[in-house]
Amino acid sequence: MSKYRFEAFKQTFNRKPVEVEPVKKRSEIFRSNVFDFDTMRNYLDSKSLKAVEDAVNKGKKIDRETAGAIAAGMKNWAASKGATHYTHWFQPLTGATAEKHDSFFELQPDGQVIEKFSGSQLVQQEPDASSFPNGGIRNTFEARGYTAWDPSSPAFIYGTTLCIPTVFISYTGEALDVKTPLLRSLSFLDEAATAVSKYFHRDVNKVIATLGWEQEYFLVDSALYKSRPDLVMTGRTLTGHPPARGQQLDDHYFGSIHERVMSFMRELEIESLKLGIPVKTRHNEVAPGQFELAPVFEEANLAVDHNSLLMDIMKKIARKHQFEVLLHEKPFEGVNGSGKHNNWSMMTNTGINLLSPGKTPMKNLEFLVFFINTIKAVHDNERLLRASIASAGNDHRLGANEAPPAIISIFIGEQLTRVLKELKNVSNGKLTPEEKTDLKLKVVGKIPEIMLDNTDRNRTSPFAFTGNRFEFRAVGSSANTGNPMTILNMIVGNQLKIFKREVDALIEKGLKKDEAIFNVLREYIKQSERILFEGDGYSEEWQKEAGKRGLSNLKTTPDALKVYKEKAVKEIFEQTGVLNERELEAKYEVELEQYVNKLKIEAGVLGDLTMNHIVPAAIKYQQELVNVIKGLKDIYGKDFQKYGEEPLYLLNKLSTHLTKVSEQVRKMRKEVEALEKFEVEKQADLLAHKIKPQFDKIRKHTDTLEMMVDDEIWPLTKYRELLFTK
Ligand code: ADP
Ligand code: MG
Repeated sequence: MSKYRFEAFKQTFNRKPVEVEPVKKRSEIFRSNVFDFDTMRNYLDSKSLKAVEDAVNKGKKIDRETAGAIAAGMKNWAASKGATHYTHWFQPLTGATAEKHDSFFELQPDGQVIEKFSGSQLVQQEPDASSFPNGGIRNTFEARGYTAWDPSSPAFIYGTTLCIPTVFISYTGEALDVKTPLLRSLSFLDEAATAVSKYFHRDVNKVIATLGWEQEYFLVDSALYKSRPDLVMTGRTLTGHPPARGQQLDDHYFGSIHERVMSFMRELEIESLKLGIPVKTRHNEVAPGQFELAPVFEEANLAVDHNSLLMDIMKKIARKHQFEVLLHEKPFEGVNGSGKHNNWSMMTNTGINLLSPGKTPMKNLEFLVFFINTIKAVHDNERLLRASIASAGNDHRLGANEAPPAIISIFIGEQLTRVLKELKNVSNGKLTPEEKTDLKLKVVGKIPEIMLDNTDRNRTSPFAFTGNRFEFRAVGSSANTGNPMTILNMIVGNQLKIFKREVDALIEKGLKKDEAIFNVLREYIKQSERILFEGDGYSEEWQKEAGKRGLSNLKTTPDALKVYKEKAVKEIFEQTGVLNERELEAKYEVELEQYVNKLKIEAGVLGDLTMNHIVPAAIKYQQELVNVIKGLKDIYGKDFQKYGEEPLYLLNKLSTHLTKVSEQVRKMRKEVEALEKFEVEKQADLLAHKIKPQFDKIRKHTDTLEMMVDDEIWPLTKYRELLFTK
C-alpha cells in the first residue's frame, strides 16, 4: 500500500461507533420538530388555523394580516424549540435543495433588538439566487427569483433553523424549481381524477397522489472517500478495478451490519422521525457497502420534500459517523448501482386507494378504470417518462443489465394480463345481459381474489404493478423525485380527462355508464398492449422485441431529453398547466447544462487522475522493472532471457498501456477543449456519443495498470478498501 493510501487507511483503524441517544418510543419523537396541525393548535388562533387548513385543502390564498399571525405563532414555536434562524427551503432545477438563512432578530444601530420574522417574511422571500440555474428565464424577464411559502408542506426545525418549504419562481411567476410544476401537476391530477371517481363515488371531492419511495445509497469511510479525488469531485469512481470478491458473497456475510453503520442508521432514523419522515426500520444490504431506507407512503408533495430532506440530512449525519453517503447511481463499476423506487398511487379524500381492487364489482370496475388509464398514459408518453428520469448518473444504470432498461414497459402480472384479455373481447356498443353477467363473474367480481397471489414481482421491469400501486423503478438514487412524479401525475391526469370525455360522449349516445366505460377501456387495452411486458427486461431479446414493437430505447440523457422539444409534448405541458413553453424550454436547457457540466468535470478529473496519479506511479514501476532486467542481464548475460521472462513481459505490457493511455487522454482533452465553440445541445451530443465512450477506453488501461503495478506504489485507494472497510 502506498504511503498516501496508508495514511487514509490508518485513520479507519480506531473508528468507534458514535454514541446515539437511546431510541425513545416512536410516538414520542415522531414529528416533534414539525409545525403540524396538532402543534399549530397550540400556537395559532382559530382564524389562522382555518386559513392554513384552507390553503392546504382548497388551495386558498392567505391574506397578509393572517400571514402575520401565522408567522408570529410559527416563530414562537420555533423559538421555544431553540431555533435562532429561519430559512426558505427550496429545490432549484438542479434537483438539490437550497437554503438562505436569516436570523429572527436583528440588532438596530441604537442597540435595540427588532424581531425579523413577519408575515411577508414567511410568505415571500427574495433569495440571492443569481447562482441558481434558470435556463435563461430570469434574464429574459429581467426578474429575480422569489421563494414563496408552500403551506401544504409543514415547516420544520433542523438544528437551530426553522425551515419553511417554499416554491421558487420568477417575478413573473415562472417556475424556477421542481416543486412548482409538481404542485401544478398534483392539482391537475386532483381535478381529473376526482371527476372520474365521481362515476363511482359521489362523495369524493379530492384525489391526492401518494408516493412511497425506497432510497438506496452507499456508505464509504470518510477518510477513504477523501483519498479519492474522483469520488469527491464527481460522486463516483472513474477508475478502479472491481474487487475480487464482489457481490457473489454469501448473504450472511453482510447480514450483520457493522456497529458503526448501525449507529448511523439509528441516528438517521431518529432524526427522520423528528422531522416527520415516517421511516421504517430497514437494514438490508444490497451490494457491499450499499443500504436502503424506505418510509411509509405519504401525499406526494410531502413525500418529495421528505425525500429531498432525507438526502440532505443523511449526508450531514453520516459525517458525524465518519462516513460519506454516496447517492450517485453508479459509484462503482462492477458493483450494482443505486436507484430510488417510486411507489405511486392515487387516493380519494374518503380514503379509497384508486389503484386497489376491492370487495365489490363496482370497486373493481373503478380499479380497472384507473389501472388501465395509467397504462394508457404510460404507453402514450413512454418517452416523456424516460426523460423524467434522465441524468448523467442514471445513464450508467439504465440498460446496464442491473437496473431496468432504458425501455419503458409495464409489468402487471399474469392474472391481470388475463383480465385485460377478457376485457378486450367485450363487444362493441351495448352489452348483452349474458355478457354483463359474464363480466361480473369473470372479471370485475374476481379481481380481489386473484390479486392476493399477484406476488410474482418482476424486478427487471421499470414500471410494475405491485398489488395496489405502480412502482416506478427506473428513478435514479440521486434524483429529485419531484421530476418523475410531476410527469406521471401530468400524463395520468391528462389521460383521465380524455377518458371522461370519451365515456360521457358514449353515455350521451345512449349507452349505460358501465357499458360506456367497458367500451372505452376495451379500446385503450388494444391501443396500449405493446407497452406490457412480463419477461426479463435485462435480456437481449427484449431489446430486439421492444424495437419491433416500436418502443423507444434512449440510452443517453441528451437523446432522452429531446422529447421536451416536440410540439405535442409542449402542448401537454401547456394544456395541463404544468409548464408553459418558456418554462419547459428552461427545464430542458437546465437539465442539458447539468449533463454537460457533469461530464466535463468527469473528463477533467479522469484526465488529471490518469496523468498525475496513475501514469507517474506506473512510470516508477516501469523504472523498477528496467532496473531488474538490467540487473538480470548483468548477471546472466546471454542466458538472461531464461530468468527475465516475467519482468520483460510485464515491462512490455506496462509500457504499451502507458503509451496508449497517455495518447487516449490527450485525445480526450483535445476534444473536450473543442467543445467550447458549440452551443450546449451540440456539446451534450458530443459528450454522450463521442467523448464519454473514451472514458471507458481510458479506464480499461488504468484498471489494467492497477492490476499490474506494485501495490506498494499504487496511489489510489482501491475498491476493496472503499467497499469493505466499515
Ligand atoms: P418492496 O417489496 O418494493 O421493497 P415495500 O413494501 O417494502 O416494498 O415498500 C414499498 C413502498 O410502497 C413503501 O414505501 C410503502 O409505503 C409504499 N406503498 C404502499 N402502498 C402504497 C400506495 N397506495 N401508494 C404509494 N405507495 C405505497
Ligand atoms: Mg420496491
